[in-house]
Amino acid sequence: MIRPILIHPDPRLKKACPPVTEVDDAVRALMADMLQTMYDAPGIGLAAPQIGVLIRVLVMDCAKGEDEEPEPLCLANPEIVWASEELSEHEEGCLSIPEIYANVTRPAAVRVRYLDRDGAEVERDFDGLRATCVQHEIDHLNGKLFIDYLGAMRRQMITGKMKKLKRERARATATAAAE
Ligand SMILES: [Zn+2]
Repeated sequence: MIRPILIHPDPRLKKACPPVTEVDDAVRALMADMLQTMYDAPGIGLAAPQIGVLIRVLVMDCAKGEDEEPEPLCLANPEIVWASEELSEHEEGCLSIPEIYANVTRPAAVRVRYLDRDGAEVERDFDGLRATCVQHEIDHLNGKLFIDYLGAMRRQMITGKMKKLKRERARATATAAAE
């Protein structure tokens, strides 16, 4: 089931989320919905708070191009256990902040410990786009957005744009409902 994605600013996007107690069928169903919602958007990563579910679950798929097999990953309770000293800068975007892109500097590689969709503990290394993506999504679980890395002026400008976008969308929905 495709779920509506929350748009910044929203108090639910600013919350530190608690861990899941176990990866049960309800969590697996949520992961499936999140993957479907992410692919539909389309995006390469989605965190549970972005659909208003405040728990530490994220999904991602950074496989790109027609010749690459899909690479869906589901992570519950992800924890960065190692980060490279080397940094890298990537242009980031966010499904909760549509059409806004900015360069963010983060560790170039990270090792993440998490529970997979079977509840098994996994440690996995991420680099390149995948490192950027997993760190961006883990930030969501801590109530942090990529625009929090930008200067206050730029962040306020983006927040203003998003408020306007939300008003326009609400108006369009109201008009459609009235017709
Ligand atoms: Zn995001």
